[in-house]
Amino acid sequence: MQINPKYRLFCSWYGWHGYQPVCGISNVSILERFQICRNQNSTFAKQPFIYADSRRSDQECGKSTVPYPGNDRKNAASTQRRKSMSRPMSKTAIEEFFQRLSDADPEPKGELDYTNPYTLLVAVALSAQATDVGVNKATKKLFQIVETPQDMLDLGEEALIEHIKTIGLYRGKAKNVMAAARILVEKHGGIVPNDQDALEELPGVGRKTANVVRNIAWGEHTMAVDTHIFRLGNRTGMANGKNVLAVEKGLLKKVPSRFMNHAHHWLILHGRYICKARKPRCGDCIVNDLCNYKDKTPAEA
Ligand code: SF4
Repeated sequence: MQINPKYRLFCSWYGWHGYQPVCGISNVSILERFQICRNQNSTFAKQPFIYADSRRSDQECGKSTVPYPGNDRKNAASTQRRKSMSRPMSKTAIEEFFQRLSDADPEPKGELDYTNPYTLLVAVALSAQATDVGVNKATKKLFQIVETPQDMLDLGEEALIEHIKTIGLYRGKAKNVMAAARILVEKHGGIVPNDQDALEELPGVGRKTANVVRNIAWGEHTMAVDTHIFRLGNRTGMANGKNVLAVEKGLLKKVPSRFMNHAHHWLILHGRYICKARKPRCGDCIVNDLCNYKDKTPAEA
């Protein structure tokens, strides 16, 4: 059988194997495919080179649509993601995981300084894309004169900027802090509400910040997933998820309730100091035997 030279060229660009899913048929030679399409009375066999758009050829052949090459790339990415996910941790392993973290540090503390729920809210909002150490430096003097939303309004935006100008994105953050203080005074009587939706309505306060504040200030069983917890959930297999919300939901479901009060702090501290992003310290990790991460780092000699 003669194959149109243009078609031969087209196939050589995309690779014979890469082109095969075009008709939803795999593991057949290009000549067999040619024959199959001809038998199906498809114009594909008559003018193959016009089918640069694989979706059209799929319709022609009456097969399921397997768009190419975009779909192949998507499939490859999702396969890769599945492969990089760790085997789910068992219930017993999760229980033991938190028991060990609890034994090592029964009363874990966050590293942001604050004096009450309002200053906690301000500190957490300021800490976005900044270090806790940097925020503490900036708020040290601020929290000596500001304790309530009304104090913040009395201070004013320009004076606030003077206090926090060492923190990244300080102008936008100052604007949000002032707007939030105004809402707290006008709508909530100057009190920080223990309510997820009410908190998320405040400018500069997202789901994570609201979760942190509710967990630390009132001991609510929330799970604020930051970069450390997201990594840890996926690496250990405790809560695999493509995004922070999926990991948050997974952890809320799987962490035993008796550990929920401190789980957020234990995970953050473990992620920050042991299960580091680039090179986890698996050799020093007290939960090494429970973790399902496939690429654990060997212990340093
Ligand atoms: S064993 Fe390694 S990957 Fe697993 S939690 Fe510990 S530090 Fe992280």
